[in-house]
Amino acid sequence: MTQLELFQDPPSETLREVVGGSERGLRPPVPSASGMRVVVLGSGSQGNALVVESEHGRLLVDAGFSGREIARRLARVGLEPSDLSALLLTHEHGDHSRGAAAFARRHGIRLHATRGTLAGMKLPQKVRGLISEFRSDREFEAGGFRIEPFGIPHDAREPVGLVIEDSRGCRLGLAADLGCRSRLAWTRLQGLHILILETNHDLDMLRDGPYPWSLKQRVASRHGHLSNVDAVAGLEELMHDDLQAVVLYHLSQTNNRPALAAALAGEELDRLGSRSRLTVSGQSEPTEWIEVI
Ligand SMILES: [Zn+2]
Ligand SMILES: [Zn+2]
Repeated sequence: MTQLELFQDPPSETLREVVGGSERGLRPPVPSASGMRVVVLGSGSQGNALVVESEHGRLLVDAGFSGREIARRLARVGLEPSDLSALLLTHEHGDHSRGAAAFARRHGIRLHATRGTLAGMKLPQKVRGLISEFRSDREFEAGGFRIEPFGIPHDAREPVGLVIEDSRGCRLGLAADLGCRSRLAWTRLQGLHILILETNHDLDMLRDGPYPWSLKQRVASRHGHLSNVDAVAGLEELMHDDLQAVVLYHLSQTNNRPALAAALAGEELDRLGSRSRLTVSGQSEPTEWIEVI
């Protein structure tokens, strides 16, 4: 079994479930004039990708589906590949990078990744002219956004979490594929308007589930994936009046249930008196567009 296969979950039916949101349908492709919006094209052990849109660009973050599937899901949310201004990768695991090279090459989209991530991928020569390497500890510009990457504890070569900021100061933070809530990550994730946070597994379901013991240990390790409980316990420190949306991300189809993660996070947001909208992303289909102002 390869390293990537270890994190594959068996396919299942749709998992999308939206909690606390009034709009369940997909929005038409109206360019955002006032704020930032995000849509998760799909998330889980089988593939991850999301689009951040603002006045000056649209960024694809991760490409963990085939190039064709990414294009299909973009169409579902009213976008075409040519609408994208850049592609950013968090790390080289297949559920984040599977379609990256083919998609970038076919559509001529610039691909940004750390040196470690690039070293962990088998990139064809033809795509090399499209690549921009970034450092995991240094800010840079991509696709009309300011990007603040930060290193995260995960069993990849140089994985990063991201804060993505638009020209008006709207800030989206992504923390997924991290084994624990590191001090660095939680420092960087302050002052967000949108938080996208891994809730990978329920500890009991992981313990009692079908994974071999070695894989259970690996998922639960400090360089594995964040559990529901660990993620939700980190919400309080990130809470402030302007955190308008929380998106639960990278749920395991084997070791989690959307309703479990949503209930836990919802209770915590209530306890904190937060008005943040809560969305649970799923593997099989995109979420609705989530907009902040
Ligand atoms: Zn992953
Ligand atoms: Zn990973």
